[in-house]
Amino acid sequence: MKIAVFGGSGRAGHVIVEEAVARGHEVTAIVRDADKAKKVLGDDVTLLVKAPQDVTSTDIADFDAVVDALSVPWGSGLGHLHLEFAQHIVSILAGTPTLAVFILGSASLSMPGENVPMFEEFPPQAEAAPWYDGAKFQYQEWQFLKTVQDVNWIGISPSEAFPSGPKTGYVIGQDTLLVGDDGQSHITTGNMASAILDELEHPTHLKQRFTLRDK
Ligand code: NDP
Repeated sequence: MKIAVFGGSGRAGHVIVEEAVARGHEVTAIVRDADKAKKVLGDDVTLLVKAPQDVTSTDIADFDAVVDALSVPWGSGLGHLHLEFAQHIVSILAGTPTLAVFILGSASLSMPGENVPMFEEFPPQAEAAPWYDGAKFQYQEWQFLKTVQDVNWIGISPSEAFPSGPKTGYVIGQDTLLVGDDGQSHITTGNMASAILDELEHPTHLKQRFTLRDK
């Protein structure tokens, strides 16, 4: 497949690029900073050097799949970009058969035994937390994706913790936060990358969101 990864030099994004390359796919990392991308991914990687909002439908017309692995720093006040990036990617893919994976947040999942997204139950004081802005707009991103009919989107919420780490195997859930045998909720970037490539190669969650935990 021809796969483009927005944020392909990022913490999760570069692992997705590497997993896709290792599986023999033709991969382009969409990045703002070519030097940073080459340091992370090496000189052989194919780059499209553009800000996400400047990528056009022509730029991505040839890809079978795109992955949104973009983020913004906690406390930056730029959380709205999560939603705006997703809206832009949807707008440039509208009406095409391209698969589009969006990495969402865990706050749009419900706690085990409940069916209300965690974000809707945060106490007012949570608004002061540095992660709140990102959680809010990734929750809105999920609400937005649910309205999208003309793009083959797939949403993936990580577990509560999403550390950098190797591919060791994963377990899939739907809308409820997954907790492992250790009582913790976590998914490594390696397992996320593996799950994204499995889904792109054999899509089973079109126009759905699912979640993952480490096995
Ligand atoms: P990173 O912090 O590594 O950022 C990814 C890329 O986003 C960067 O490499 C950068 O790419 C790009 N970026 C950052 N700021 C901007 C900006 N202002 N404008 C344009 N591009 C920008 O992301 P992670 O890999 O940590 O996160 C990936 C996904 O996982 C995100 O959706 C994140 O919210 C989610 N996540 C969820 C968690 C949870 O729910 N438990 C926990 C952690 C992450 P470049 O400079 O190359 O263009």
